[in-house]
Parts: sequence; structure tokens; C-alpha cells
Amino acid sequence: MQSQACDGREDGVTDAAVGEGRPGSARPRSVVPAVQLPPTVAAEHQAAVAALRESYAALPPGAPVRLAKRTSNLFRFRDPLPRSPGRRAPREAAGSPAGAAGLDISAFTRVLHVDPAAQAAVVGGMTTYENLADATLRHGLMPLVVPQLKTITLGGAVSGLGIESTSLRNGLPHESVTAMEILTGDGRVVTAAPDGEHAGLFRGFPNSYGTLGYAVSLTIELEPVAPFVHLRHFRFASPEACMDAIGEIAAAGSLNGHRADFVDGTAFGLDEIYLTVGAYSDVAPWRGDYTGQHVYYQSVRGPREDFLTIRDYLWRWDTDWFWCSRPFGVQNPVIRRLWPRRYRRSDVYRALVAFDRRHGLSDTLTANRGRPPREAVIQDVEIPLDRCAEFLRFFAAEVGMSPVWLCPLALRSDQPWPLYPLKPGQAYVNFGFWGTVPLPPGCGDGHYNRKVEAEVAALGGSKGLYSTSFYSADDFWATYNGPGYARLKSAYDGDGRLAGLYEKCVRGR
Ligand SMILES: Cc1cc2nc3c(=O)[nH]c(=O)nc-3n(C[C@H](O)[C@H](O)[C@H](O)COP(=O)(O)OP(=O)(O)OC[C@H]3O[C@@H](n4cnc5c(N)ncnc54)[C@H](O)[C@@H]3O)c2cc1C
Repeated sequence: MQSQACDGREDGVTDAAVGEGRPGSARPRSVVPAVQLPPTVAAEHQAAVAALRESYAALPPGAPVRLAKRTSNLFRFRDPLPRSPGRRAPREAAGSPAGAAGLDISAFTRVLHVDPAAQAAVVGGMTTYENLADATLRHGLMPLVVPQLKTITLGGAVSGLGIESTSLRNGLPHESVTAMEILTGDGRVVTAAPDGEHAGLFRGFPNSYGTLGYAVSLTIELEPVAPFVHLRHFRFASPEACMDAIGEIAAAGSLNGHRADFVDGTAFGLDEIYLTVGAYSDVAPWRGDYTGQHVYYQSVRGPREDFLTIRDYLWRWDTDWFWCSRPFGVQNPVIRRLWPRRYRRSDVYRALVAFDRRHGLSDTLTANRGRPPREAVIQDVEIPLDRCAEFLRFFAAEVGMSPVWLCPLALRSDQPWPLYPLKPGQAYVNFGFWGTVPLPPGCGDGHYNRKVEAEVAALGGSKGLYSTSFYSADDFWATYNGPGYARLKSAYDGDGRLAGLYEKCVRGR
């Protein structure tokens, strides 16, 4: 696992390229300068936006709309888009009704401009974080929050609330957006920013999941990076001890003297929880490598210290889709050697799961073996820090799935974001759990997920909506600001061209 000693700058981060300023120090929002696109890029982009608006206007009135996107990280599965002549079918259509028209968004899948002096970038809304990170790392910069899966897109993370190990320091991806160009449900293209005519849309866009409109370009802040991340894995023997340590990091920005530029954790059991605290580093006495035979999540139980290049750090979870590559056998050393490296990626595993879901293969196999049916419990929830130990104890007793991912966060903004109930000034932990659990006799699908939803509400937390949800309409709108959403929906999609949030996220439209 430990390879050669190195003190050079690698993975596209060169001495000359490293951004100005201390790694991890974004400019204060008040001094982020406006970013100008180079004239040719601006002209191309304007033409692409005009073409998109025209193709949206040309869709038959009343026809439902979807993005013709090749990747998705949603866990609410849909039928794929119908093939049309001359167009390859996308691997998965992103979160919209079966049979709906696919809007060609291929012009918005790239980084339009990185401005190293401004520490900012203008990015197509459907650009993957893999491409975005590569483009910014070349300048020694990265987005303030880079979600762990390579094919998550900037627009998906902003409208669907991404998160990562910088989120205790930098908040959520939408909190470093300074402007968004949005194709609204009623067919306009507007620029939404923290101030001005469309400030309400700007603040209501996070957690709207493409039901108010689609972000076609976003201007985002960037922060300087160092070439390496120095990791330390701290072990805790109880949830309470782990949560105390997160409280210390939230207050001090470090743990046991180790600076917390990054922090996340892995719970293997109530008495075996690790917090991984990462500090930017200019040097690495050795380099871990989890793109080959070694599996990252297993490494947190090993030596207490590790070094990764910044790029390998960003994608440490992608190679094995956290631990979810396990059912495919990819963590078995023999199969791993045979499994081509280029297919050790989260989007490949997700495509396999989508295929399985479409054809019911695992369900049939389980039934044929006479085993009880299993419920998919694939969720991310945020719990206020002082209730997190209770949540972990509930989860171990009632669901019993492990490992569980822990990611501390706090809003960067001092104002709440209207459609998602996180409070400014409050530390939370995001718990991610992704797997299946056998159903008790007589219980149907939703048994475990409903328990999780009830416990999250009881603890004052909230649940992300990228996966299945079972809320009643009343509970849903009480949690996700029904009146505020209705105002935005009527202002930007008055004819209901796009699905509503409840219909999309709970009813699966
Ligand atoms: C196993 C697993 C682990 C996960 N772990 C993490 C994690 O660690 N960190 C994290 O951040 N997230 C995580 N996610 C969730 C993921 O971030 C969300 O599902 C996110 O919305 C996916 O974005 P995407 O770009 O793939 O969008 P898609 O899956 O394509 O679409 C998601 C939704 O966003 C809408 N959308 C897409 N693009 C736009 C746009 N440009 N404008 C407006 N709306 C748009 C779509 O209509 C859809 O409703 C995880 C998901 C799974 C299944």
C-alpha cells in the first residue's frame, strides 16, 4: 500500500500551478470578483443556451420533460429513455418520468472557464465533478466541496444537496455558488444570484431536484489545495466518544493537534468507529494507493496514518463505491486482479445495480433460494450533533447494517436554505448507509425506511431525497417547506411543466 517516498507535486498539481493563498482558504464571499468568460467561449455558450431554450419551447405542450443525461447517482430508478434514431440510449435517465422527452444538454457538460486569480470557475450545469476537479487541480485549486462519486454533476449536487469531508469547514456545494443560469420550467433562462430579481430562486434551488428548472451554468468559488493530504484515522469505542471528538473539531478545527481540512468517518460497529482527519500537506513521506489491489475503507482500520495525492484523496471512495462494490466480488483479491482497473468506478457498479433492478435478478435469486425478500435501505440523513449517538444506537438496533459513513457538516451561510431544514450555526453529522436488509416475516417494502424516516424526524434531523421516500404528503411538506416551494413553483413553473417535488421524490414520477 505504501509506495515510494515523494516530495514532488503530482496529479496535475504543479509548483507553478498551485493557487495563491494557504491551502483550504477560500476567499471571503464578499470579495469574490465577477468572472468574465473569454469572448469565444461566451459566444458559444450563448448560442447553446439559445438552442436549448428553443428545443424546450418546441416540446409538445403538456409533454413531461427529462434530461438526456448519460449518468445518474439517483437511487430512484426509472425506465431508460426511449431510443431515437441516430442517438445512443443513455445509460440511465436522470430522475424524470418514463417516456418523457429527453432534453439534449450535451453543450453543458464542460468547464467553461477557470479564473485562477479570482479563485472561481464558470461551469456547465451537467459537468461531472471528475472533469471539474481535473480542470481546477491544474491550477492548484478545487471546488470547496467535491462529492465523492466521479459522475455526480455540479447541477445535481446543487439541486440535490451533495456533501463531502470539507463540509464541516465549507458547508454544502450550493453554498459556494455565486450565480446560476437556470432554464426555468416555464421556458425562460434567468440568472439567479444571492441578490436581485431571482434571489428567491437562487436560495430555493437547493433540494429542488430539477423541479423548478435546470442549472445550465454555475459560477463557483474555488480554494487553493496542496499536492497531498495527510490522513490520520482516530478510533473510538462508543458513538458518544466519537461525537465529542466531532464537537472538538467543529470548535477547534483540529483533533489532537492534527488540522482538520477534511473530516469524515466510518462506523463498523458501535464500539469500532473511525474518524479520518485530513490535513493539506506539501510533502508525503509515502503515498497510499487504493486504485489497485487495496481497498480504501479497509485501510481506515489499518495503520493510523496515511498520505494520498489530492486527486486520489478526492476519489478515494469512488473506486469501490464506498464499500458497495463488495457484492460484485471486486474486493476478493483474485476477482479484483481480473476486474479491469477502468471498471473499478462507482458509475460502473451503479449501472450494474440498475440492470439488476430492471430485470429483478437478485430478487428472483433470493426467492429461488427460499430466503426472505430484502429491502433496499439506501439513504443519507443529517442529524444534529447532540442527537447523533442516539441515532447510531437506533440504527444498530433496528436496521443493523454496517459500515455506516459519517460526514460532519455545518452550513457556511448564516441564513437557512428554504427547501432543506438545516439550521445555521448548528453542527450535524450526515450518516450514509447503502445496502439491503432481510425483511421480517409479514413486513413489506418500506418497513425499515419508514422507521428511519420516523427516527430522523424525532431527532430533529432531515433526510436527503435522492433515494426512496415514504412520507405522507402532509409530513413531506411540513419538513420541506410546502408553502415556500409552492410560491417558487408558481413563479417559475406555473403550468407544472416539470414534475412537482413530492411527485418526483416520493411518488417516483
Ligand atoms: C450510494 C450513494 C452514495 C452517495 N454518496 C454521496 C456522497 O457521498 N456525497 C454526495 O454529495 N452525494 C452522494 N450521493 C447522492 C448524490 O449526490 C445525489 O444523488 C445527486 O443528486 C446526484 O447528482 P447527479 O449529478 O448524479 O444527478 P442525477 O442523478 O442525474 O440527478 C439528480 C437529480 O438532480 C436533478 N438535476 C440534475 N442535474 C441538474 C441540473 N443541472 N439542474 C437542476 N437539477 C438537476 C435531476 O433532475 C434529478 O432529480 C450518493 C448517492 C448514492 C446512491
